[in-house]
Amino acid sequence: MNIILIILSTLTLIISALIVFIVIFNSRKYKLSKGSKSFKNIKWFNRKQINNYQIELKIFANSLVNALSIMGSEKIGALIVVSQKDDLKSFEKNGYQIQGIFSPEFAMSIFSNKKSALHDGAMIVDQNFNIASVSTYLPMTRNIIDVKYGARHRAAIGMSEASDAIVFVVSETTGLISYAKNGVLKTLARDNELIKKTIFSLLGANDIKQED
Ligand code: ATP
Ligand code: MG
Repeated sequence: MNIILIILSTLTLIISALIVFIVIFNSRKYKLSKGSKSFKNIKWFNRKQINNYQIELKIFANSLVNALSIMGSEKIGALIVVSQKDDLKSFEKNGYQIQGIFSPEFAMSIFSNKKSALHDGAMIVDQNFNIASVSTYLPMTRNIIDVKYGARHRAAIGMSEASDAIVFVVSETTGLISYAKNGVLKTLARDNELIKKTIFSLLGANDIKQED
């Protein structure tokens, strides 16, 4: 009788231990699967954010191309600094600090009105593609550059030496569009397709994938 009791209680113990083990194992599995599900969600969220950024970048790149092309064809002198990773707050302070969404109309109204003090100097566009300042004084390059370039182009080069910004220039003399990056000035040919391609590629707006 005693032996039967011992066997029975041992069996009960083994079964209870098994049940406890199964419960713990399953809850761990559940937690893990829940964790991976939320991780997937984070990845999806990040992808969505990156995709939204790329769409905004493409819209901005289009606006910039339009603004530069119109101002080029009308020979309206312009200087537009496009922020990259560096914070340009200390430069923005050398101008009129404003907040506005960049558009060809806005850029035109700033640079074409020679009677306004705001047309003089540079427009700075921040990392959110908003105009952060206008009529901004930029640092001049100290390097020797071609004499055909005056103060506007020298300021574009200087700003690209002082930061990682890409600085676009429209010459009021020739209507040509140039850009300065890492202290080097390049002038673009009068070819609208090429201008668009170059600017999109400079801003990294080319590799846009449409996904949700
Ligand atoms: P363009 O080909 O348009 O004639 P440029 O390189 O010959 O240009 P200037 O004719 O000297 O240059 O352009 C003068 C204008 O450049 C000024 O009216 C002003 O708007 C702008 N500019 C000059 N120096 C600076 C500076 N340090 N920061 C910002 N803008 C500047
Ligand atoms: Mg000049």
